[in-house]
Amino acid sequence: LVEIRGVSKSYSGHEVLHDVNLTVQPGEVVAILGPSGSGKSTLLRTINHLESVDRGWVTVDGQLIGYEQRGDKLFELKEKDILKRRTQVGVVFQNFNLFPHLTAAENIAKAPVALKRVSKSDGHELALGLLAKVGLSDKADAYPRQLSGGQQQRVAIARALALTPKVLLFDEPTSALDPELVGEVLDVIRDLAKLGTTLIIVTHEIGFAREVADRIVFIDGGHVLEVGTPAQVFGSPTHARTKEFLGKVL
Ligand code: ATP
Ligand code: MG
Repeated sequence: LVEIRGVSKSYSGHEVLHDVNLTVQPGEVVAILGPSGSGKSTLLRTINHLESVDRGWVTVDGQLIGYEQRGDKLFELKEKDILKRRTQVGVVFQNFNLFPHLTAAENIAKAPVALKRVSKSDGHELALGLLAKVGLSDKADAYPRQLSGGQQQRVAIARALALTPKVLLFDEPTSALDPELVGEVLDVIRDLAKLGTTLIIVTHEIGFAREVADRIVFIDGGHVLEVGTPAQVFGSPTHARTKEFLGKVL
């Protein structure tokens, strides 16, 4: 479903992604682990072209993200077309990023109404359904400031689902939360995984990654050093850097 091929990316001469290859199957849950600054967020952001790439390409469901091919070269798409393809990929960030002046329901309905010609009343119905799914049926009219961090993040997940993306990306979805609120967000992600949603999750929650992920990707210094099942990566890591990292976090 998601194919990342030969992706490299530099910031002012400093390479932060080096020839990254990764294929994610439909319904698969992939967790990306690695030290701070290893390129996890940058990699995730290339998947919906929040970040351009210097080399390589990404496709979702066979469609190039951010670029179109002419001859044997890739050209960056216009903003409008980038946005259109980006609706295939939902993203949830660390800091929720809800629109503060909109209610929970309005936050969720905004993109479908703006981008998919969904009527306002259908958008509202959709929002209520998604709020139920994340356990927030009673919060439709609440503004973000009236919600806890965990509730805001669950609204953000509902919002990401509103465009029925083919894959959902999470960048450390619980690391801005108070410890007692982490569980409710992980529960929602766990439910999505059980329903067969394709998920790519950057996380420091090692126990959670081990439990829900079909595959673990370990990245260090922009290099994918290890890809395997949790049993393989946690049980018998092949790379010294993986062992060192796991030794610190486990
Ligand atoms: P963390 O666990 O701290 O979130 P990360 O693995 O997500 O780290 P990235 O945010 O992908 O790491 O950053 C990878 C490298 O790229 C870092 O060295 C970072 O300083 C650099 N970097 C990221 N974004 C930019 C940018 N916009 N301009 C310049 N350098 C950047
Ligand atoms: Mg990051």
